[in-house]
Parts: sequence; structure tokens; C-alpha cells
Amino acid sequence: MQQETLLQLSPKEAANAAAITEGIALHWGIHPHKITGFEILKRSIDARKRNVLINLKVKAFIDEPFHDTPLPTFDFPDVSQSKKRTVIIGAGPAGLFAALELIQQGIKPVVLERGKDVRERRRDLATLNREGLLNEESNYCFGEGGAGTYSDGKLYTRSTKRGNVEKVLQLLVHFGADPAILYTAHPHIGTNKLPHIIQAIREQIIASGGEVHFQEKLIDLQVTNNKIHSVISASGNRFEADDIILATGHSAKDIYLLLDQKKILIEAKPFAMGVRIEHPQALIDSIQYHCPLGLGRDPFLPPAAYSLVEQVNGRGAFSFCMCPGGIIATASTTQGELVVNGWSPSKRNNPFANSGMVVQVGIADVMKNEKRKTGELILHHFQEEVERKAYAAGGGKYVAPAQRMTDFVAGRTSSSLPDNSYLRGVNAVNMKEVLPEFVFQTLQGAFKAFGKKMKGYFTEEAILIAPESRTSSPVRIPRDAEQLNHPQINNLYPCGEGAGYAGGIVSAAMDGQKVAMAIAVGR
Ligand SMILES: Cc1cc2nc3c(=O)[nH]c(=O)nc-3n(C[C@H](O)[C@H](O)[C@H](O)COP(=O)(O)OP(=O)(O)OC[C@H]3O[C@@H](n4cnc5c(N)ncnc54)[C@H](O)[C@@H]3O)c2cc1C
Repeated sequence: MQQETLLQLSPKEAANAAAITEGIALHWGIHPHKITGFEILKRSIDARKRNVLINLKVKAFIDEPFHDTPLPTFDFPDVSQSKKRTVIIGAGPAGLFAALELIQQGIKPVVLERGKDVRERRRDLATLNREGLLNEESNYCFGEGGAGTYSDGKLYTRSTKRGNVEKVLQLLVHFGADPAILYTAHPHIGTNKLPHIIQAIREQIIASGGEVHFQEKLIDLQVTNNKIHSVISASGNRFEADDIILATGHSAKDIYLLLDQKKILIEAKPFAMGVRIEHPQALIDSIQYHCPLGLGRDPFLPPAAYSLVEQVNGRGAFSFCMCPGGIIATASTTQGELVVNGWSPSKRNNPFANSGMVVQVGIADVMKNEKRKTGELILHHFQEEVERKAYAAGGGKYVAPAQRMTDFVAGRTSSSLPDNSYLRGVNAVNMKEVLPEFVFQTLQGAFKAFGKKMKGYFTEEAILIAPESRTSSPVRIPRDAEQLNHPQINNLYPCGEGAGYAGGIVSAAMDGQKVAMAIAVGR
């Protein structure tokens, strides 16, 4: 007999197979010997009460031999002789998962990526972190795996209706991720593990007869009769295509400029902007797990996370991409512009907890300033302006402007700054000089409110590092709701975060699959 069972166990018990077996036996009122094994179906942390518990949903095998549910297998046929070829611009999650799906649909993908492969890319990140020298084509956003490669690798998404989350997670496991991501409530992979998975995906694409070209940056589209027949790269190569998937991410500003210049329709899109906040991880653990600060968390619990949201004078402020045990990184892609983001290793074992703290930015907010350029790139220019101001305020070489949280709320420059994870160093400023006034004021109100929701969160030990300005794309590339192609260019498929259809690794990967399926249906 197989029985699904819900258990609530202490963190220590939940990490021990014998304790779980006993829990199942107790639940069903049977002897533990009758249980031949169990499979974990779901695992989550319940930290609402003083005693933090682990919720487990297990499938128990009672009086019958135990067998694991086999992991799904995926077939990738040889598409080298496929009559159709789709050129995919960008090897981020959207582009790579589109390529895998195209192969499954029997279509040859040709992936063009402006950056380098994961291994070479790592050297450019080291140079940026050590010397403050940015390679505009190879950085935290550009290169194999896209912005998702050197990230926290959080794999949860709110867009569950937009596609098949399970298939994305199963494919990640197929290419080397820990199968625990299939049942953990808030799965993550970690910066150290993601590159191997990305490399395995690339090897599969090539083994199936697809192509992956690095350091091939799209700079032009050749359009005749509302169809792109080929694309041109910066190295002068021309790639012919039946269809084009444009999955260039939210940092490929040159793509927005190219489309705008070629009069291919784009639209301004609201996004969010603010700062990265960082606390000692021990403090966040003590707040979330209700444990005395000096004692540390239960060793069977992971570093604690949080999620906060507040309306301040009718405007939303919220935490974004929280990285327990993480590092704040320079996510810039252009010289002289500063943007920060966060990542963590799989163990999340750094002493700090960081999170984006951002405020919604709409077109109307920006229109108020008459001096600013208008048009569909209005929010893009606004984003750039803030990033340039932040770079200058840091003093150069990607040193970042920073302020203690308490000083930010009080409106004064900090006389000293706490230890933090940002590798390029920080410079004390008054963020009022860096952030747009409405962003600054909304965050001031939000921080006070967050301090009430999470006692101890509002503290002088927390540092704000700015700006977190690329939460999503400030531009949308429109597409047909059913066929997913651009309204003016029949064989152009805008895809992923840069086109405005995803926000995060899983939703971008799902969008890639969706677009590939639309191409297969229209073939
Ligand atoms: C530091 C960091 C941490 C993050 N952490 C998380 C996280 O934990 N969880 C999560 O869900 N999300 C996270 N994100 C966001 C996530 O990475 C993105 O949402 C996701 O990668 C978007 O996927 P995409 O494929 O649409 O675009 P991208 O990943 O941005 O990929 C676009 C690709 O296109 C390439 N490209 C751009 N222009 C051209 C061109 N002209 N020619 C050829 N190639 C081009 C780029 O080099 C890039 O490789 C993080 C982002 C960063 C920067």
C-alpha cells in the first residue's frame, strides 16, 4: 500500500530518515517495520511560530517493496538535417530552453550569444571584481547562461500559469541539478553549480545538431516584406533564418535602440527601481526563526529568507530577489553606469543577507520631468540616468554609493559604513542625490514599515547599496497573444525578460519553451 502523509517535524527530525519513518508510523498507528521506504513529495519551512517546523509531504510504502518514482527522461532527436532553422539571439534561460524545445520539436536551433562561454566568462567577472574593469560583452548579465548563470539560482516563480514549471525543473535536473529542487518549496541552485548545468545544456544542443556561437553579437536585421531573412553579427557574419527568437535580456539596450532605429515597434514598460539592502545573516535568522541573536540558528535550518511589501502613499515598494548568505555584485553592462544585483553560492554560507528593495516606476512618473527624452525609450533613458549618477557618486571603478538604512530614513550621509559583501567597495553618500525623489521617499516610508513588520530589521547595521535598477525590462517588444510573433515582422519572436514576458530564470525558460512551441505549430 502507498499512502501520502503530511508530517510536521523538527528541522533535525526532518533531516533524518529514521525519524521520518517513525513520524509516518505514528501518523498511521503502525509499527515502523511495516514501512519499507518513503519518497519526499514536498518540503517547506513553517516559521510562523516560535518552534520552527518542517512540513513534509511524503509518499510512504507500507507492507510493499519500496521503489523510487523514476525521474522523467527527455529525448533530444538529431535535428542537423532539419529543413527549418531558427536563429536564437541570446543564450540566457529563455534562449537555451527555446533551443531545447525546438530540438524536441524537430527544428534546428542556431544560438548566437554576444558573450563568452561560462568558463571564460568567469575570468571577466574576476577582473571586474578585482580591478573594476568591465568587459561590456562579458559580465554578470552577458555570456553563456545569461543573467541567470552567476545568480542565486532561485527557481520559484509566480507565473505558474504561463507555462510548465515542472518541465523546466525536470530539465534542470536532467542536466545536473539536485533532484531536491523538484520538491523543495523555494528551490535554488547556487552560482557554483549553475555553470555546469548551462554547459551540459549547450553540449546537448550541439550533440543534437544545433549550433551555439559565442562572441557573435547581433547588430543588424535584414528585413524584406515584413520578414527577417538574415541577421548580421558584429564580427561581420551573416546568419540566415526561417524564424528569429529575440531573447536578449533586459540589459541589451543596443537591441532596443536597433529596433527603435529600424522602426520596429517597441513600447515603454513600467519597471521597478531602488537599492540593494544588506543585513548580517545572523540578524535575519534571529528575526525569522525567533532565536536569540548570539546563539545562531538551528544547524538543520537553512539561512533565513524574507519577502516584504508595502504601499506608501499609493505606491508599491517591495523586496526583490532576496539572497540569503549572498554577495552583492556589479551587474553593469556599460562603462560609466552602475547597477547592482545579488547572488549566492549553493550553500548560501556568506555572512550577509541581501535583497533588492524597489519601488514601482511608471511612465507618468518620468513624464513629469519635461527635460527628459520622450518616446518608447523614455523609461530606458530614465534608468540610464540613474545608473550614471550612481557610478559618479561611487567615485568610479564600480565603487558603489551606500548609506546606512537608519541614515537613509533620517536623510543624512552616514559617517561610517558597516562591513558588507560588495567587492568593489562602497562610498558613503546621501542617496537623495542618487535616486529619483519619489523612489527615495517611498523607500523611506517602506523601511519604517518593514521595521514594524520584522522587529529588528530597521537597524543601523543594515547598509543600502545603489542602484537596483534592472528588476525587469523598461521596454516591451510587442507580440501576438496567440502566435507570439511581432505584429510587424512575421518571423520575429520576442522572448524572455528583455522582451517583457518574463521576470526570473524559470519564467524566462518557460517563455522560451512557449515561443519554440509557437514556431513549431506555425511551421
Ligand atoms: C546577479 C543576478 C542574480 C539573479 N538572481 C536570480 C535568481 O536567483 N532567480 C531568478 O529567477 N532570477 C535571477 N536573476 C534574474 C534572471 O537571471 C533573469 O530574469 C533571467 O536570466 C532572464 O532570462 P533571459 O533569457 O530572458 O535573459 P538573459 O538571462 O538576460 O539572457 C540574455 C542573453 O542574451 C545575450 N545577448 C544580449 N544582446 C545580444 C546580442 N545583441 N547578440 C547576441 N546575444 C545577446 C546576453 O549576453 C545574454 O546572455 C538574477 C539576475 C542577476 C543579474
